[in-house]
Amino acid sequence: MSYSTRILTALKEKNPSQNEFHQAVEEVLISLAPLFDKEKKYEKHAILERIVIPERQVIFRVPWVDDSGKICVNYGYRVQFNTAIGPYKGGLRFHPSVNLGVIKFLGFEQILKNSLTTLAMGGGKGGSDFDPKGKSDNEVMRFCQSFMNELYRHIGAHTDVPAGDIGVGGREIGYLFGQYKKLTNRFDGVLTGKGLNWGGSLVRPEATGYGCVYFAQEMLKERGESLEGKVCTISGAGNVAIYTIEKLYQVGALPVTASDSKGMIYDKEGIDVALLKEIKEVKRESLESYAKIKKSAQYTPVSAYEEGCNGVWAIPCFAAFPSATQNELSQKDAKILLQNGCKCVSEGANMPSTNEAIELFLQAKICYGPGKAANAGGVAVSGLEMAQNASMNPWSFEVVDSHLHRIMESIFANASATAKEFGDPTNLVLGANIAGFRKVADAMIDQGVV
Ligand code: NDP
Repeated sequence: MSYSTRILTALKEKNPSQNEFHQAVEEVLISLAPLFDKEKKYEKHAILERIVIPERQVIFRVPWVDDSGKICVNYGYRVQFNTAIGPYKGGLRFHPSVNLGVIKFLGFEQILKNSLTTLAMGGGKGGSDFDPKGKSDNEVMRFCQSFMNELYRHIGAHTDVPAGDIGVGGREIGYLFGQYKKLTNRFDGVLTGKGLNWGGSLVRPEATGYGCVYFAQEMLKERGESLEGKVCTISGAGNVAIYTIEKLYQVGALPVTASDSKGMIYDKEGIDVALLKEIKEVKRESLESYAKIKKSAQYTPVSAYEEGCNGVWAIPCFAAFPSATQNELSQKDAKILLQNGCKCVSEGANMPSTNEAIELFLQAKICYGPGKAANAGGVAVSGLEMAQNASMNPWSFEVVDSHLHRIMESIFANASATAKEFGDPTNLVLGANIAGFRKVADAMIDQGVV
């Protein structure tokens, strides 16, 4: 049995029913096999045995009182996965589907993603099964305060710096930061994604979406192609999707779709970004409202999607940007995308494509940018926010954006060079996984058995 297979088998036995975690680790370990054939030091130092177990994980009770006076209780999580190359860094997700397996998959991905950014950040992730949807601002505030009543003990500007993710945006980061300050009497850069006038960075809201488009441009440039004048499809209608759409217009592409948990819109004239922001960020309504206002848009509810498919991927496109959630692009979806001539998939979300879908993209040798490389712009700008906090010196939009652009270019260059080094030049899954892993694993070896 190979080193990777042995570790994966043991991991599945020891962590039953953490399906998303198994899936994320499996994708990485399969692509690391050529590295282990070449370099025996990682097995000798038991790196895989160590890297798949978080350094620490905290699970806690989050009690809060709703507007009617009822006591509600949620689960809270912070998984501190790896500090080989820097303090724990990774977002908080508030969504009813959150459980330990989901947070561990996200935390594991984060180790390699953060390594690829070239910045000194370890990997971590956290969240809760709390659903902010339909809650009043006061309810969200009380929940965030209760969440921080436990979390503050485990985080710090040089220890662990959480950020946003699904269900955690500027509003939630504000409430979390306020409570952290109240409890500790310290104004620390302990969270990223902060408001601009209290320590936030310009370009942080845009970073993941913009970075994902920069990454797609790099993949295409190598093949003499570009996004200019091309039809693009995007899933999701949150932070990542909105700024992916905004950047696609800036590079001359035509983004025609968006989706949320209830359905999707197809607007052949192009998605109206201002209207999308108004509906999802300000009014927090479903996309059905978009189609009621913009007559060129066609709304399809999830119930009308073909069995086992996501309606977004049925729209013919040159490039696809999955930007909603994990496993939103199935093998069936991948087949449809390829049949319709899709040449590029750049993942804004974490693990949006199933392993079977990824296999099809790799076989077809299209430009496929796995999430841990393509969506690393968000955490990269979080790293830049930490640098600005530490120096007490805020940077201009242009400076942060140019850093982001350079970082995305370097992530692509590193993943692509590594894929070539291992004889599989178009396989950026292999390239990103090996490049991200090597840096962390070598640091673990340097630091001894801890
Ligand atoms: P948001 O909460 O801002 O938006 C998420 C969007 O995805 C919403 O439109 C939501 O629909 C939709 N969505 C969520 N869950 C589902 C589901 N199960 N089925 C269908 N649609 C769903 O989150 P973000 O935009 O921040 O995050 C999107 C993805 O990007 C996630 O995978 C996240 O981990 C990843 N990511 C985010 C980064 C960031 O900087 N924010 C950085 C790197 C990766 P609805 O509006 O109905 O809730």
